[in-house]
Amino acid sequence: MKKLSVVGNWKMNLTLEEARNLAIRLSNEAVNLEDKVDVGVCPPFVFLKDVCDILKDSKICVGAQNMNAERSGAYTGEISGAMIKEIGCSLVILGHSERRTIFHESNSLVNAKLHTALTYDFNTILCVGESLEERETERTEEVVGIQLSESLKGVTKGQVRKLIIAYEPVWAIGTGKTASPEQANCVHSFIRNILKNQFGEAAQGVRIQYGGSVNSKNAKELLSQPEIDGALVGGASLDFESFFSIISDALKIEKSS
Ligand code: PEP
Repeated sequence: MKKLSVVGNWKMNLTLEEARNLAIRLSNEAVNLEDKVDVGVCPPFVFLKDVCDILKDSKICVGAQNMNAERSGAYTGEISGAMIKEIGCSLVILGHSERRTIFHESNSLVNAKLHTALTYDFNTILCVGESLEERETERTEEVVGIQLSESLKGVTKGQVRKLIIAYEPVWAIGTGKTASPEQANCVHSFIRNILKNQFGEAAQGVRIQYGGSVNSKNAKELLSQPEIDGALVGGASLDFESFFSIISDALKIEKSS
C-alpha cells in the first residue's frame, strides 16, 4: 500500500503561542494516527525549535519552508540545512511558487538546494505548478516539464525515495479556486511519466501531492484520484479542525503502490 503524505505549510502566519498550541493539539491527536499517512507541518523558521520539541516523540514530522543551498558562510539572513537538521527537522519544502515568484528563485537555484537537502537526507518536497496565464495558453505541461527536468537535474534513482513532488497550480494557491480532481489527476499523470523517464521503476514510489486551496470539503475527492498521493495544505493547515479533517480523509483512502 502507498502511504499518503499530508503536509501543512504555515507560511508566515501564527504567533509563537498559536504555533505551540496547534502543535500540542496535533501531538495529542497524533496518538490515534495509524501508520497509514505521513503527516508533517512546516512552521516559520523561528518557531521550528519549539514545534520540533513538542512533536519530537509524535508521529508528525516537522519541516522548514525553505533552506539555503550552501552549508554555511556569509549569507546574511539565511538558514542552512545543517541548522534545521540540528534542531530536529526531517522535512523541507523547496521551490514553492511564492519563493519562485516573490523571491525570484530559479530552477537552477532550486536544483542546488535540492541536492543539498538530499545530502542531509531530508524528505524533500519539490513544488511545481503553472500560472493562470500559462494554463490559459495551454502551456501547463511545458512549464511543469521544464520545472521538473531542471530542478531534478543530477538526482539519482537512489535518492528518489526521499523525494515528494507537490503539484501546486499557482492560480489555486490561497485563492479558494481548486483544480478539479480530474484536472489535477491529469497533471499528476504527466508528472509521473516524467519521473519514470528519469528514474525508471523507482518513480513509482515518489508521492505526488496536490496543493492549492485544499480544505476539509474538497480533500476527500482530490485524494481519491488515482495519481494524487497526498496534499500540501496552506491556509487550512492553520486551523486544527480543518487540518485534522484532511488527515482523517487521507486515512480512509487505500492506494496500492
Ligand atoms: C501552499 O501554499 O502550498 C498552498 C497550497 O496554500 P493554500 O492551501 O492556502 O492554497
